[in-house]
Amino acid sequence: MRAGILRSPAAIETNPLELCDVPIPQPGASEVLVRVKCCGVCRTDLHVIEGELPERKSPIIPGHQVVGLVEACGESAPRFRIGARVGIAWLHHTDGTCEYCRAGSENLCDDPSFTGYSVDGGYAEYIVAPQDFVYLIPERFPDEQAAPLLCAGIIGFRSLRLSGIKPGGRLGFYGFGAAAHVAIQVARHWNVEVYASTRDARHQRLALELGAAWAGGTLDEGPAKLDAAIIFAPSGEIVPAALKALRKGGTLVLGGIHMSAIPSFDYDLLYQERVIRSVANNTRQDGEEFLRIAAEIPIRTRVQVFPLSEANRALNALKNDAIPGAAVLKVGT
Ligand SMILES: [Zn+2]
Ligand SMILES: [Zn+2]
Repeated sequence: MRAGILRSPAAIETNPLELCDVPIPQPGASEVLVRVKCCGVCRTDLHVIEGELPERKSPIIPGHQVVGLVEACGESAPRFRIGARVGIAWLHHTDGTCEYCRAGSENLCDDPSFTGYSVDGGYAEYIVAPQDFVYLIPERFPDEQAAPLLCAGIIGFRSLRLSGIKPGGRLGFYGFGAAAHVAIQVARHWNVEVYASTRDARHQRLALELGAAWAGGTLDEGPAKLDAAIIFAPSGEIVPAALKALRKGGTLVLGGIHMSAIPSFDYDLLYQERVIRSVANNTRQDGEEFLRIAAEIPIRTRVQVFPLSEANRALNALKNDAIPGAAVLKVGT
């Protein structure tokens, strides 16, 4: 099969993904083999490729927002029929036995594996995954539009929940890429006012089109104090500015897997019971609930589609803020 392979981490400007022919993976007993139709491009892929996350497998096929069709099932994997349209997301497997899994927080599992990071991902014509970590994709979404729901969507949804935002509340988004462009649609559905801070003018326009009450530069002061805010951009320097925008008791959620160093700031910015918390991965329940709500609303993702052979170009565009919405690789038909 054809696959986009990373042999060693490097700046995306050097186009480090190589399109190669590799053997089709074989499903284990409890796994399914999926023929990939498309795979969303996530900022985490960029962090993996550029070596901002510690190496977990090398070489590696990135990609963790996979939409495809079940092609074969292991002997103990009866959950899906052949041909079912399914999604594979970041959480590839958890041990099910550690204290976190047992407490319902499998997103914090002590021994997890992650798609496109510790096991091969979806920048390829085929992928295998444990049947219990695979999602059925709601029928109403075309393949390309479904792909960004699987990480941008699910993580944005978990971030929204952890922000504690209530209907009628004011919520800030810092960075307005793939995750924010989905999360705003959920927030608007909940009757939340969204204030979007992002450096790129195209992203500001997209935020307004999607119903933001205000859009401005990343460090601009908005017109109102916020009940909660989510930082999607990977820059720690935003943290003090976002804290400053919060009302007393407000929550700041850091939605990324990687962030540059957070500068020191005066305690006054945090005092008055403001809270900072990160978001790590997601549970399968987050994924199931989000996909159901996404179909109900329904979420409409804006996607820019690239062929698999242009994965490097898609990732360069993502790094340069040149994607309004989400980038998706089209792999098979
Ligand atoms: Zn666990
Ligand atoms: Zn992701």
